[in-house]
Amino acid sequence: MKDKLVIGNWKMNGNCEENQRLLAEALPELAAVTGVEVVVCPPFPYLAQVGAQLQGSPVSLGAQNVNAKERGAFTGEVSVPMLNDFECRFVLVGHSERRTLFGETDEMVAEKYAAALSGGVIPVLCVGETLEQRRAGLAENVIVGQLQAVASRVGGEAMAAGVIAYEPLWAIGTGESATPEQAQQIHGHIRQWLAGQLPSGTASPRLLYGGSLKADNAPALFAQPDIDGGLVGSAALEAQSFVTICRVAQ
Ligand code: PEP
Repeated sequence: MKDKLVIGNWKMNGNCEENQRLLAEALPELAAVTGVEVVVCPPFPYLAQVGAQLQGSPVSLGAQNVNAKERGAFTGEVSVPMLNDFECRFVLVGHSERRTLFGETDEMVAEKYAAALSGGVIPVLCVGETLEQRRAGLAENVIVGQLQAVASRVGGEAMAAGVIAYEPLWAIGTGESATPEQAQQIHGHIRQWLAGQLPSGTASPRLLYGGSLKADNAPALFAQPDIDGGLVGSAALEAQSFVTICRVAQ
């Protein structure tokens, strides 16, 4: 069985001093966490700083976004080879803030997923429904549509090489997490969909839950059979909260 996975998404937060302090407090405690792969995703300008501080620790570096092109006239963008230069092991693709605030479509997300995979960086595909879609009974259809867009681009089998994060939009940054039952229902559905894509015997990718995941709700969420870890936003900015969530995942 694969280790659980907990990823901290710092979003557009931090500075040199805060990053240093956060990691100095968290890393010694994270060194004692076993059976859990831990990743932090700082903003691009801090990849070098954070990567250097992670040296010798079991925590990996990730990025929050990537452009699908390798190089060229794309002002402000960052490519997979650039992430490789900083030894990023993971990259988030299709985070809901990218989709809603920056106009990323399913097709763009699929291109990013494909580029990350072929460049050797593990894509963490974020999917999730809005509150309106959930109320209309469309949550599962929306999520399968987001997954299918990527599978159509890379082939169903390639879904095993990434990570999938279920992040209902109504739970991100709102303080209102999905209940363990709501999360498990979607995770179970994703697992079933994956089983239809992957050759039998292929290990399923890890399925993370994200959306107001905190130290106090992590135990019940991580106890669900199809939740293999978490994608953590605001709680990843506080060392003790993040460490507790990682410990709970053990
Ligand atoms: C996120 O943005 O990936 C996230 C899960 O945020 P939060 O934990 O703050 O809801």
